[in-house]
Amino acid sequence: MPIFCPICNKSSAQSRFFGAFCESCMAQKLKREIPKHARIYQCRFCERLKIKGTFYDYDKNSLGRALNVAMGLKDAKVIVEDFKSGWADVKIIFHREGENIEVKAGVSVKVAHETCQKCYRISAGYYQGVIQVRGNRMKMERFVEGLKRYVERRDGFISKIEDQQNGYDIYVSDKSVANSFFVERKIKVEKSFRFYGMKRGVKLYRNTYAVHL
Ligand SMILES: [Zn+2]
Ligand SMILES: [Zn+2]
Repeated sequence: MPIFCPICNKSSAQSRFFGAFCESCMAQKLKREIPKHARIYQCRFCERLKIKGTFYDYDKNSLGRALNVAMGLKDAKVIVEDFKSGWADVKIIFHREGENIEVKAGVSVKVAHETCQKCYRISAGYYQGVIQVRGNRMKMERFVEGLKRYVERRDGFISKIEDQQNGYDIYVSDKSVANSFFVERKIKVEKSFRFYGMKRGVKLYRNTYAVHL
């Protein structure tokens, strides 16, 4: 027995149905529920997008997720088709009654700028450890390049490199990344620790690593 849409009277023999409603009436209903405005948060320096408290590299995929959260959609995926000057054309795939239904919409987007923790720390010259590398110039250059790549790939950064008479002092953001670099590369290192303050009752130390190449 076919059922009939209570809005347009279309029969279930002519169209997919979502519960009591035909596909086009369901799409109309969903379209009305889509907010016309959304506010997303982006780091002013690295342009990463903040989604539920975490910053992600900016691309169409993360933009879609940020808009999804900003619009408060449930059981839906937002695909960004175009985004420029505060306007996004999107395709939203809603999951309803065990099936997917697609709705196109336009959303006015406000971008609020923040500074992510990583960029804040870079600008503040933050560091957890200093690597004092001494020895052969060529080897030291290669060491600095390798370290920089290694640290950046793990979401850390080098906040400062100081030229010393016989080498470099390299300030790294993350002690654990520095430690694993030395272990993985089997580099012999002398470690020392310097107390530099308290945070919520915990003593904080900065590491100094002496490396001879
Ligand atoms: Zn209908
Ligand atoms: Zn940033």
